[in-house]
Amino acid sequence: MSARVEVALPKDATGFIRRQCPGCHRIFKTLPNRFDARVLQRRLVSLFPFENADEGYEEVPHWHCLYCGHHAEADEWLAPEHVSYLESLSRAWANHVRYEQLAYVSRTLSYNPRPTFIAVAPEALPEPLPAEPEDLRVIPMVCCGEDVKAEWDWDGPMYCPRCGAHHGGMSGRQQVHLQFIQE
Ligand SMILES: [Zn+2]
Ligand SMILES: [Zn+2]
Repeated sequence: MSARVEVALPKDATGFIRRQCPGCHRIFKTLPNRFDARVLQRRLVSLFPFENADEGYEEVPHWHCLYCGHHAEADEWLAPEHVSYLESLSRAWANHVRYEQLAYVSRTLSYNPRPTFIAVAPEALPEPLPAEPEDLRVIPMVCCGEDVKAEWDWDGPMYCPRCGAHHGGMSGRQQVHLQFIQE
């Protein structure tokens, strides 16, 4: 196999990536992380047995839910559209591998007067994921010095997705209210 596919999670206009909590299923966004590539690799390896499978099971850190504090391994935070893309990619990739194998066999049997099968070219690999829309609102995480994006109507406490620190009194609605009083 010499084909090469580049896989990446789409970013919105300000560079944030969509994440979904495996516990409460709410959506938030964080900036790209150095473990994102390993997360994609681990998920693809779990869907399709690549030859270099050993590389797929390197450790990933635990991340935390911005809203409920649930913590889970980094590859649990893919959004449903990310997962279905990876599933269709691994399915299409498996078909390509199978086609290459069959095509190889039929090429090497080219002098066989009565071939017993014809390798049918598989469908093209799926289009990359669409661009991530610009939504949600930016919240600074003072503990780790990294911005996150939260749902507009969330006014409960928040947890830092990276370190899990609990920010009880820092809800966006209270911040807006404070600013209003100061003016
Ligand atoms: Zn959650
Ligand atoms: Zn933090």
